[in-house]
Amino acid sequence: MKINQASFLMSNSTYQQCPKPDKPEYAFIGRSNVGKSSLINSIVRKKNLAKTSQTPGKTQLINHFFINEDWYLVDLPGYGYAKVSKVEREKFEKMINEYLTLRTNLVCTFVLIDVRHEPQKVDVEFMQKLGENGLPFCIVFTKADKLSNTAVNKNLAIYEQIMLETWEEMPQYFVTSSVNGTGREEILAYIDELNQG
Ligand code: GDP
Repeated sequence: MKINQASFLMSNSTYQQCPKPDKPEYAFIGRSNVGKSSLINSIVRKKNLAKTSQTPGKTQLINHFFINEDWYLVDLPGYGYAKVSKVEREKFEKMINEYLTLRTNLVCTFVLIDVRHEPQKVDVEFMQKLGENGLPFCIVFTKADKLSNTAVNKNLAIYEQIMLETWEEMPQYFVTSSVNGTGREEILAYIDELNQG
């Protein structure tokens, strides 16, 4: 898919305030610093559409972008922050959960994982919860340029092993780098396929 148009629409704190759910929507989520803003900017080929490197926990809103006047890309706040208060964390966990379970036009959630790190409980549990709620998701491994191909493949094998403790097969996944564009075309082709479908 070619990106002809990408614009920021609005930020909201509840799913009810989000744009009318009449277009297919794809959400991106992950722990802070995973490379989510960089990936979104690289997917839409705009340097600053999603803001990069903000203070962890600051972006606590549901951000909608309108792509090709055809579908919504949604930047969700990260989960698993250690540095915010319990009350604050619970507030935005509720917001994310409501959005994920009640947003009727959400087609797929892309869960971002830093390919350099060992599988983290918070990520694995988040995906388990998506599965329990019957919510489609894919894994996007980020920052692949920071490792050799051998090291990427080794870490993927470790991740797959952990996922197979819960899942019958490894969920659909993409290996990406916002620095050299690895995985960008594949993600866009996947979204295109789902949009047609
Ligand atoms: P976010 O908090 O998940 O939105 O993460 P950011 O997009 O702000 O990225 C966090 C840090 O990782 C920044 O310093 C980015 O420059 C860096 N980063 C993000 N993606 C990549 C990548 O694909 N490759 C490399 N080498 N660095 C990346």
